[in-house]
Amino acid sequence: MPELPEVETVKRTLNVNLKNKNYIINNVIINFPKIIKDIELNNFKEKLIGQTIKEVDRVGKHLLFVLNDYILISHLRMEGKYFFTNNRDEIKNKKHVLVEFELSDNNFLFYYDTRRFGTMHLGNYQNFYNLKPLTKLAAEPWDIDENWFIDKVNKSRKAIKTIILDQHVVAGIGNIYADEILFKSKINPQERGNNLTKTEILRILENSKIILNQSIDMGGTTIKSFSAGKQISSTFQKWLMVHTKKDQPCPKCKNIILKTKVNGRGTYWCDHCQKLKK
Ligand SMILES: [Zn+2]
Repeated sequence: MPELPEVETVKRTLNVNLKNKNYIINNVIINFPKIIKDIELNNFKEKLIGQTIKEVDRVGKHLLFVLNDYILISHLRMEGKYFFTNNRDEIKNKKHVLVEFELSDNNFLFYYDTRRFGTMHLGNYQNFYNLKPLTKLAAEPWDIDENWFIDKVNKSRKAIKTIILDQHVVAGIGNIYADEILFKSKINPQERGNNLTKTEILRILENSKIILNQSIDMGGTTIKSFSAGKQISSTFQKWLMVHTKKDQPCPKCKNIILKTKVNGRGTYWCDHCQKLKK
């Protein structure tokens, strides 16, 4: 699943092609109606046609296409991808193209999704923040109120990994990054929130920013089938310290990296560097 750094990379890549180009949406072809949420299909199409794409923004893992009157909120979920092209036939197998945007100057923006879990919501400038996909989203590590975060973690008896994966607590940390953040913070993923000190919680927050920034700089991870666009290749996965490194030596202490499940999510850690507290 693309995580925040990947979605940020997709956003940046799309902006290279879309920002300030003022492409007008001339037509919208919906090949898989289920992806469009909470709005009638014809209404969705009617509203989009004639709109100019200003730029692409991001909130959490949601892409926001900023149009002159509307905001199109797109969530890639498991496998969603965008392709921008001036050659309609560039994608040979159209089976997985769920939505086609025909743009001015003979350009096309294709939404491609083999798993078909992606979603699109349409809002306007006044209401988009109150639409379903965005309402319950917490702040990202850069914007979060530190005291609120410390309090939230300290009041929880859940494993710290589960807490930082909860998008209602902090937005944008996915499974891969949670493992890397906790390794860097020397915190056991199964440690309970109420067992952590203020200093440790702030360290986790600080390392969240570092790890996510590092990954954004490198263009996301591409562990499964994430693709940011034709031009971008990701190097972050080469820099993973623990995630996917089961049975390999810990880069810090050479002990063997272990794998377990925390709340159902595959979790990698070093039992020596990330000791469970007594
Ligand atoms: Zn270690």
